[in-house]
Amino acid sequence: MKTIDICTIDRIRTNTDGEGVTTLVVSMGCPLRCAYCINALTWDGSFKNVKKYTADELYEELKIDDLYFVATGGGVVFGGGEPLLNYEFIAEFIDKYRDKGWKFGLETSLSVPRKNIESVMDRIDFFLVDTKDMNKERYELYTKGDYDLFRSNLEYLLEKVGPEKITVRVPVIAGLHKSEEYKENALMLKDMGFTNINVFPYVNPAERKKVSEEAKRNCKDFIEKIKSK
Ligand code: SF4
Repeated sequence: MKTIDICTIDRIRTNTDGEGVTTLVVSMGCPLRCAYCINALTWDGSFKNVKKYTADELYEELKIDDLYFVATGGGVVFGGGEPLLNYEFIAEFIDKYRDKGWKFGLETSLSVPRKNIESVMDRIDFFLVDTKDMNKERYELYTKGDYDLFRSNLEYLLEKVGPEKITVRVPVIAGLHKSEEYKENALMLKDMGFTNINVFPYVNPAERKKVSEEAKRNCKDFIEKIKSK
């Protein structure tokens, strides 16, 4: 049986991750290094409250909200970090508990090998894709990731599951997006064929809560780079 390292299980969420009442399962590990990461403690082992779960153990924890999920059309959303690093666990979990009538969502950056997406995409009811930026230079500056990988996976997912199942999130990030650049991102996604496009102002979590030393250094590095541009 596969296992997953989870740092938070956030229950009774409404109007945040799709329809109905949902529980967000936040797993450890992420391939990106976003300058204003919402959850930088998932990057490494420094987070103290990580717990390892098998599928059965996770089900035992989540089933407390079974009635809410079934009555409202909600369910479980896998987030992170990057949940697709745990694609084998997610596939196993859904196969085992699909008959409960829960919906299964995935909140992802798509910055993973193609096979991670292929392995779970037919099992997922809805996708929340964090796009960060549709401009290669800005994307790579902000995330330290590979834009071409993200872009090709985004096109692939759209082709395979269709726009109805995907919500693309378009953050407006202070410092990264000058004036109207975020509108270019939304327009590009619309031209690609996406119909659920969620533009929202992104608040730097460093202003709200404690972040790791690595995240602080990463953020400082980003700010210096955008100042020198
Ligand atoms: S995708 Fe970016 S914001 Fe999300 S956990 Fe990874 S580094 Fe943080």
